[in-house]
Amino acid sequence: MKVPTKSHSRQLGALWEELQPLLEDALLRDDPVLGDSLQAFEAALAAYHGVEHAVGVGSGSDALVLAIQGVGLGPNAEVLTSAHTFSGVLSAIFRAGARPLLADPDPDSGLLDPGRAEAALTPATRAILVVHLYGHPVDLDGFRALCARRGLVLLEDACQAHGARWNGRPVGSVGRATALSFHPSKNLGAFGDGGAVLTDDPVLADWLRVERNMGKRGKYVFERIAPNTKLDTLQAAILRLKLRHLDGWVERRREIAARYLDGLKDVEGLRLPREDRRARHAYHLFVVRTSERERFRSFLAEAGVATGVHYPVSAPRQPAFAAHFRGARFPVADAWADQVVSLPASHEHRDAEIDRVIEVVRAFPWA
Ligand SMILES: *Cc1c(COP(=O)(O)O)cnc(C)c1O
Repeated sequence: MKVPTKSHSRQLGALWEELQPLLEDALLRDDPVLGDSLQAFEAALAAYHGVEHAVGVGSGSDALVLAIQGVGLGPNAEVLTSAHTFSGVLSAIFRAGARPLLADPDPDSGLLDPGRAEAALTPATRAILVVHLYGHPVDLDGFRALCARRGLVLLEDACQAHGARWNGRPVGSVGRATALSFHPSKNLGAFGDGGAVLTDDPVLADWLRVERNMGKRGKYVFERIAPNTKLDTLQAAILRLKLRHLDGWVERRREIAARYLDGLKDVEGLRLPREDRRARHAYHLFVVRTSERERFRSFLAEAGVATGVHYPVSAPRQPAFAAHFRGARFPVADAWADQVVSLPASHEHRDAEIDRVIEVVRAFPWA
């Protein structure tokens, strides 16, 4: 049995009958740009998160850039975020004209926590961008209190965490603005690129709607210089259907995670993910850690089990940013980059596939 990391065709196949009439309707409506299905999806997305506004944009990366710029973080504003992250987060901060300030995360969870964040603040820090990495929410209550106390803007990157909750609240409903990605790999994925910004702030929402559309207000007035980064109406039709399935899919991911946690609990040499008791982990990725990663991955690959690495190079060591962070030490982020392995754990995986992965992992000869 071969076990892939993900199967887009299996996911779409299961939705096909529901999807076909929606696609037909979206295609035949004669409003391909900023059309009805985009507005309906934005309304559903905002309602799902319990926020006032959702603005669809071209990608999660652009959602981050627009969120940072939209809350008024000007040049030289420092945005604090975790050193263990998706590298595109750093690109987005630079592209927005701000500067990333990095703090090493908690060594057990791999997530930034309010204590470590506070210790890293400088007089130039204006915002904290929390990343709910792998689908596990950060301590949103702690970050909200910290930002209130220190006069900082709280921004959320929930690109990996659709459907996650902290103390019962959906992630994405706490920060001033939240970036979501609908890249096909995410828990809520389009068939191509897409993203959205969530916010309760009507002024920010209005700014975002003008900004994503070349700075145009109405048809002919260009208010300012801005990119063209709208969410496609056709992608929105797909996403609107998938959003209805999201909670069920997150439940399925949590079942798969529970199966792994039970089946692998006594495997020495493997560190398993843990869920904080205040969190509802969305398990975008099921990430284990081992100091023998390359041999472990080859063994699994030979047995037909595909794995991923999120991510092999820590963000501040990427060629694009290395000069900016030269001399800075991030021992926790570096250790995670050396040890992480993602096991197959998408909602479309079957129990037999997960059991096969468990069997192969248990057969690995640890050194
Ligand atoms: C995927 C992702 C992004 C970027 O999203 P794109 O839609 O691929 O541009 C940003 N942050 C995190 C944490 C992500 O996982």
